[in-house]
Amino acid sequence: MSLKKLIKISRREFLKKAKTIFAGVAVFASGKDTIIKNFFVNRLPQGDKVKIKSYRNLGNTGFKVSDISFGAAHITDGAVVRYAVDCGVNYIDTAPIYGQSERLIGEVLKEKRKEVFIATKFNQRAWRAKNSEELKKNFKESLERSLKNLRTDYVDALLIHSASESRMKSEEMHEVFEKAKKEGKVKYSGASFHSSGMGNIVKQFFNYDSMKILTPAYNYLNNKDVNEDIKSLSEKGKAIVAMKVRMGAYLERLPGWDKQPLGEDFESLSLNQKRSRMIRFVDDSNNKFTMDFNRSTFKWVLSNPHVSTLIPSFRTFYDVDTFLPASGEKFGYRDKENLDNYIALVWNQYCRIGCDLCHSYCPKSVPVNDILRFQMYYENYGDRRMAVNEYSDLPKNKLGDNCSDCDAPCQKYCPYGIAIKERLIQSHKTLSLNC
Ligand code: SF4
Ligand code: SF4
Repeated sequence: MSLKKLIKISRREFLKKAKTIFAGVAVFASGKDTIIKNFFVNRLPQGDKVKIKSYRNLGNTGFKVSDISFGAAHITDGAVVRYAVDCGVNYIDTAPIYGQSERLIGEVLKEKRKEVFIATKFNQRAWRAKNSEELKKNFKESLERSLKNLRTDYVDALLIHSASESRMKSEEMHEVFEKAKKEGKVKYSGASFHSSGMGNIVKQFFNYDSMKILTPAYNYLNNKDVNEDIKSLSEKGKAIVAMKVRMGAYLERLPGWDKQPLGEDFESLSLNQKRSRMIRFVDDSNNKFTMDFNRSTFKWVLSNPHVSTLIPSFRTFYDVDTFLPASGEKFGYRDKENLDNYIALVWNQYCRIGCDLCHSYCPKSVPVNDILRFQMYYENYGDRRMAVNEYSDLPKNKLGDNCSDCDAPCQKYCPYGIAIKERLIQSHKTLSLNC
């Protein structure tokens, strides 16, 4: 049964079916994954059919930014970046931790540097310093490496990656920011926010006049903690660049990828037969629901006039073709229905980005929110390398296996009923494979 049909049935039945859907999620992690990924990466772009239709002020920087911008965390092909820029996207968000992302963007920037606003971040590993001097040295080296990878002599924005209260206060970091601005290597500074306790961390942004770019996790479910602050900050001329807008992107992992409608005999087909069957699948209603859902999430975020742009993760030409039609579009009744149906599906699966409600009840201070976010990168975004890397950066006494001998007092403080202990033990098994 397609998801579209599913959502026509009663909510109770729908939730029952949702269990089956999530059971299918794990199946995707197989060889078929690579074939399908390659198919979408290689699928030819649609030419002139998609274009950015709306540009907004990027705070008071004077730059007019495309309302839909390019999150480059998971790219594997620079041609996709070039295509998006040709379609009018003019803001690219990257970071040293995103594997080959900076380097691939660098190849595109050779021709298009002046057309795009490029934001990168300090390498998260720069924080592992023994003293103040080493910390400053690490920051400087991180910036120099980014400039080299991006083949440019300046970045438009340099951000603190995954800002925490202590990171926001780091004098060393602010010193390096200001020096780099004087040297012309960085135009604007800022921070990205998705750590546990995000609402409070965002408030610190008010203390730093010199920081202009604020990149919070912001979506239909994750907005109450930051809505007011986003409004005030944007009125002060800060640029709000929304990320994690697709609420976990669980639809990327629908069981439809498994046997239906690709068919039980899929593995035995020739490559050409596989491709034509996948083309049929792309037009299947499951997939249409995913497209509509993605666009609805974008339209909801952009219905907030204080948001300058959003940065969903693009991986393929297909993403460009299916994301960009939401540019300049209004959020409507059907969009709300799409989002509400999605919420029914993920309610007790999606660990709200930046939430810390259960955190203080964990005797071992295990970072629940971060670990479930890494698991989301692995399962839903399909970025196993980044997920495993980020998990391997956690200290041993904060890993998910610490939950095994615990009575899980955290559990009753999650208002969404997420099976925390079970999920963290499972996440540890998945994410520690290569640690
Ligand atoms: S199960 Fe125990 S160790 Fe794990 S997050 Fe909950 S309280 Fe912490
Ligand atoms: S498990 Fe629940 S309470 Fe804990 S961080 Fe996630 S959403 Fe918040």
